[in-house]
Amino acid sequence: MRQFLTSARPCCREFRLGCTLVLLAAGLTCLAQETQNVFIINIDGLRSNEGFESGHTNLPFIWDSLRPLGTLYTQFYNTGVTITNSAQSTVVTGTCQLLYNNAGVITPLRPHQPTIGEYYRKETGLPSDKAVFISGKSTIWRYPVSTMPGYGYAWAPSIVLNSCGDLATWDSLRSVTARSHPSLCYVLLGQVDEAGHTGDTSYYIGSIRQADSLVFEVWKLIQSDSAYRDHTALIVTSDHGRHDDRHGGWKDHGCTCHGCRHVLFLALGPDIKADRVVTSRRVQIDIAPTIGCLLDFGTPFAQGTVLTEMLRSHSLTPDPRPPALTTTT
Ligand SMILES: [Zn+2]
Ligand SMILES: [Zn+2]
Ligand SMILES: [Zn+2]
Repeated sequence: MRQFLTSARPCCREFRLGCTLVLLAAGLTCLAQETQNVFIINIDGLRSNEGFESGHTNLPFIWDSLRPLGTLYTQFYNTGVTITNSAQSTVVTGTCQLLYNNAGVITPLRPHQPTIGEYYRKETGLPSDKAVFISGKSTIWRYPVSTMPGYGYAWAPSIVLNSCGDLATWDSLRSVTARSHPSLCYVLLGQVDEAGHTGDTSYYIGSIRQADSLVFEVWKLIQSDSAYRDHTALIVTSDHGRHDDRHGGWKDHGCTCHGCRHVLFLALGPDIKADRVVTSRRVQIDIAPTIGCLLDFGTPFAQGTVLTEMLRSHSLTPDPRPPALTTTT
């Protein structure tokens, strides 16, 4: 069993996996000391070849200005289904999801396990406008709210949908932050994926460079707002890549090839190490527990582990409690 690092509260220390109750042993406790807000930007369908492997060619702002401020994972993977509804849902739940896209589907396809928005609101009691999911895909990832009893729409984040390109999504983000200053903000930039499916090289590459500049705009927005500055983490990632050239190239995605699985992951913020590159393998189910760690809420159904490699030492302390037992039933 993988070691599971949890936040400090006892309620965070157990999760159910099928009929198995596991009380997890933990040698360290995560205590993010400075982070009060987390922004996650998910650039949908950005293949690593045109993403961070291109360095400053396609991602000049992320590569030159943001990467030195944070931790870059070079071996980060989607190990599940490399389509949007499954992959985005895996990221926000911390569990492997198998969900077809919702376009054309009559019955909404929703994850069973709670999302970070639900966990956060239920544990803190914050109103829905403090946790916001903004999606630039209005027909595919429409229902990012779980079916789990005790969670679901009662604790759902605010959901903003649009399909008018990344500039419109950026406008939505600016409006939402100005209006309610959410402390958990998940943004899906959908244009890179849309552009890739057209097969138009200049549209695809141009959309990547635009997404790069928008991520930098988000960082500038954070730095210019006293409610966010010095207390906000920014995570940049992708839900899936696109086929590598031996499997059809970047026009499509959805298989198990390296191009579809290998994704970007960069994080920066007050509890995250600067100018660090992590080469150990990590996966998407590790993102939700890490956000829980940063904002100090539990993700008891999540299957991943906190990305401790990127956390500053003051954010990790030895667990003072006796080792927990591990049982299965
Ligand atoms: Zn996608
Ligand atoms: Zn796609
Ligand atoms: Zn593929």
